[in-house]
Amino acid sequence: MRLILLGLPGAGKGTQAKVLADRHGLLHISTGDMFRQAAAEGTELGLRAQGFMSRGELVPDEVTIGMLLERVARPDAAAGIMLDGFPRTIPQAEALDRALADRGEQIDGVLYIQVPEQLLMSRLTGRWSCSKCGAIYHELTNSPAQTGVCDECGGELTQREDDRPDTVQARLNTNREWTEALARYYGAQAKLREIDGTGEPSEVTARLEAALPEAGKGVH
Ligand code: AMP
Repeated sequence: MRLILLGLPGAGKGTQAKVLADRHGLLHISTGDMFRQAAAEGTELGLRAQGFMSRGELVPDEVTIGMLLERVARPDAAAGIMLDGFPRTIPQAEALDRALADRGEQIDGVLYIQVPEQLLMSRLTGRWSCSKCGAIYHELTNSPAQTGVCDECGGELTQREDDRPDTVQARLNTNREWTEALARYYGAQAKLREIDGTGEPSEVTARLEAALPEAGKGVH
């Protein structure tokens, strides 16, 4: 089974990708994780990717496509893959389709986790961390006893630059553009399934399970 998870930042894509990959024996491939690892190891690929990542821009297709295709061609991907963060452009999607078709394979399903914009905003902007000890809080799920004050050490809670509402809004806007384009691309292939991403993570997992292509059901 070869699956793609689509969803805007904050939709819970990474969390769900891990759970589903574990349950179904799929290799979880996150191009973001691959780039971060390469950057941490200081490889040539990592150095090329680093500048784009730190500016919040997409790494160019010629770098990203080569890296991803090499990864999915390895033996440990043969049993099935769960792609998370790839494709992000139509040329990436087309290159993946072509490479799979050359081997007589294909993408079996694309699961699009949908969460209303307002909820995404509150999930993404609700994070605060302690300026003294680094403890992390969230307005929705893990709020401190006293607003703005760390439960652990009494330090002041501050918000990260990229968690501020205007930054988050900009990130959502650019992501929405390419996510919708990909949804149309896979919709035209009748592979797209839209999943309600609100509620508890376990509820979302159950909806995703119910939407898996027939071939993948019942495998645990
Ligand atoms: P992520 O963890 O998926 O948000 O990815 C982190 C960063 O890695 C992104 O902001 C991009 O700079 C880069 N990246 C990850 N996946 C891709 C992709 N499919 N195409 C281009 N850039 C990517």
